[in-house]
Amino acid sequence: MVRRREGRRGIQLRSPEDKHGLRLSNTAALFLDDVRIPAANLIGGVEGRGLVQAQQVFGYTRLMVAAFGLGGGWEALDRAIQYSMNRVQGGSLLCEKQGYTHKLIVPHAVRLEASRAFIEDTADKIDRGLGLNGAMNTEGAIAKYLATEAGNAAADAAIQAHGGYGYTRPYVVEKVKRDVRITTIYEGTSEIMEMTIARDRWQQHLKTQGGYYRDKGAALRRLHAQHPRVGADIAGLACEALAVVLEACRTGRLTRNQHILFRLGELIAFCEGAEVFAQRAAAAQTDSAHEKSLHRFDADTFAAMSRVYAREAAARVALDGSRWVAGAADPGSPAVAAVANIPTAAIQAAQAGLVTDMDYVADALYDRRG
Ligand SMILES: Cc1cc2nc3c(=O)[nH]c(=O)nc-3n(C[C@H](O)[C@H](O)[C@H](O)COP(=O)(O)OP(=O)(O)OC[C@H]3O[C@@H](n4cnc5c(N)ncnc54)[C@H](O)[C@@H]3O)c2cc1C
Repeated sequence: MVRRREGRRGIQLRSPEDKHGLRLSNTAALFLDDVRIPAANLIGGVEGRGLVQAQQVFGYTRLMVAAFGLGGGWEALDRAIQYSMNRVQGGSLLCEKQGYTHKLIVPHAVRLEASRAFIEDTADKIDRGLGLNGAMNTEGAIAKYLATEAGNAAADAAIQAHGGYGYTRPYVVEKVKRDVRITTIYEGTSEIMEMTIARDRWQQHLKTQGGYYRDKGAALRRLHAQHPRVGADIAGLACEALAVVLEACRTGRLTRNQHILFRLGELIAFCEGAEVFAQRAAAAQTDSAHEKSLHRFDADTFAAMSRVYAREAAARVALDGSRWVAGAADPGSPAVAAVANIPTAAIQAAQAGLVTDMDYVADALYDRRG
C-alpha cells in the first residue's frame, strides 16, 4: 500500500516491509516524485553530487556494517560456546568433541577475529585522516565483506551447534542469524564488495606490473623474520600466489569474465585479511596493539589464530586461483602454464601444524589452558 506523506508534495511512503530479521526496525520504500527541495536543505551545498558524496563515505559506513556483522557473529558463537559446555552427548560434553569444535566453533572464531583485525586497522587509518575523499573505500569494502560473511557463517554454525534447540526461538541464535543476514545485503551486497575490491586491486596490479602483492609478500617475510610465530610467512605465500594468479588472469585476459573478477575479489579479501591479522598477532607479541583493540585473547592465541587463517587464505588462493584460471582460459593459453608459478608445494607444507593450532585455539576459547 502506498501512502501520501503529509507536508511535502511528491513524497510517498509505502507500508512497512514484513522482514526476515530486524523486525523491530521500520523499513519502508520511499518514493520521491518531482519533490521540490528548498536550497537551504541541500546536503553538501552542490546539486547533482549525491552519489559522489555517498562514495566518499563508504570507507566509513561500510566499516560500521562490518562491525554489525562481527558483533552478530560473536553473539551467536558465544552462545554456542556456552551451550556446548553444558550439553552432554555420548557420555561427554560437546565442547570436548573435536569434530564439533573444529567445524562449528574454531574456524568461525578465527575468521571473526581476522575480520576484527581488519576493521580495527581500517578504523585506525580513518581516525588518522587517511580516509579522505574515499581513500579507504576498498579497505572498507574488504572489512565489510570479511566480517559480514564471517558473521553470517558463524551465526548459521551456532544454530547447528545447538542442535534442535538452535532452530527454536528461546535459544536466540536463530534470531541473531535472521538479524545478521541483512549485513551482506545493505550498504552494498557482498557481490558488489567483490567487484569493488577486485576492480581497485586489479588496477594496482597493473600499475605496479605485478609488484603490488609481491611487495606485500616481501614485507610479510620481513615481519616473519621479526615474529616467526604469527603466520606472516604463510600470509606472504598467499600474497605471492595471488600475484601469480592475477598475472595469469592478465595474460589470458580472463577478467573479461565477470565471475573471474568477482572470485579475484574474494581471494584478495582473504589475502589482505591474512596480512592484517598477522600484523595484529605481531602487535600482540610486543603488547603494542591499539589501545582500543579488544584484548580477549593472549599473544599466543592470536598467533595460533593468525596461522590458522593464513593457511586457509593461502590454500584458497592456490587452489581456487588455479581452478578459475584453468576454468576460464582458452585451450593452450599461456595463462594456464603461468599458474605453475604458484608456490603450491610451500603452501601445502605450511599446512603442517594446522590441527594442533586448532586444538590450541579451542583450549583458549574454552578457557582450558592452566
Ligand atoms: C532492512 C533494510 C534496510 C535498508 N536500509 C537502507 C538505507 O537505510 N538506505 C538505503 O539507501 N538503502 C537501504 N536498503 C536498501 C539496500 O541497500 C539494498 O537493498 C541493497 O543495496 C541491494 O540493492 P537491491 O535491493 O536493489 O538489489 P539488487 O541490486 O537488485 O541486487 C540483487 C542481486 O543481484 C546482485 N547484483 C547487483 N548488481 C550486480 C552486478 N552489477 N553484477 C552482479 N551482480 C549484481 C546483488 O549482489 C544481489 O545478489 C535497505 C534494505 C533493507 C532490506
